[in-house]
Amino acid sequence: MEKGSSYSGSCFCEAVQFTVSGEPVAMGYCHCDSCRRWSAGPVNAFTLWKPDAVRITQGAGNIGTYNKTPHSYRKWCKTCGGHIFTEHPGMGLTDVYAAVIPGFQFKAGVHVNYQETLLRIKDGVPKLKDVPGEMGGSGTSVAE
Ligand SMILES: [Zn+2]
Ligand SMILES: [Zn+2]
Repeated sequence: MEKGSSYSGSCFCEAVQFTVSGEPVAMGYCHCDSCRRWSAGPVNAFTLWKPDAVRITQGAGNIGTYNKTPHSYRKWCKTCGGHIFTEHPGMGLTDVYAAVIPGFQFKAGVHVNYQETLLRIKDGVPKLKDVPGEMGGSGTSVAE
C-alpha cells in the first residue's frame, strides 16, 4: 500500500469510519432506478474498489446490510441511516459512494445505465445505455 493514497470516509454521524486505499478500479455516475431509490437522489456517484482496499476502522458493528438481489449488499449506519458503500460480490468490487469520501478526488470516467436517466448531465463524459460488456451489459454508447 503506497503511503499517501489512503482516504478517510464516514457515515453521516461518523459512528462508522473507514479508509479506502490505493486507486479505484473505476468511477462514474449511475443513473439506474435502484441507485435512485436507494440514494434518494437523481444519480449515484460511484467509486469501485477491490474489497480489500476498503477497511472499517470504527463502528463495524454499527453497519446494517440489505440485499434485495444477490448482486448488491447495501451497507448503512444503524444510528444515522447514512449510506456507506455497497458490495457487489459478482463483480468482486465494492462501490464506495463518492459523497462519503470527501478527501478523495472524484473524477467520473463514465455514466452508466443512462437509458434510465431522469437528469441528463452534459459533461462530455461517455454515456452507456446500460453497463460495460465486461460487467454483463451491452456496452452500447448513447447520446447525452
Ligand atoms: Zn452514522
Ligand atoms: Zn445504479
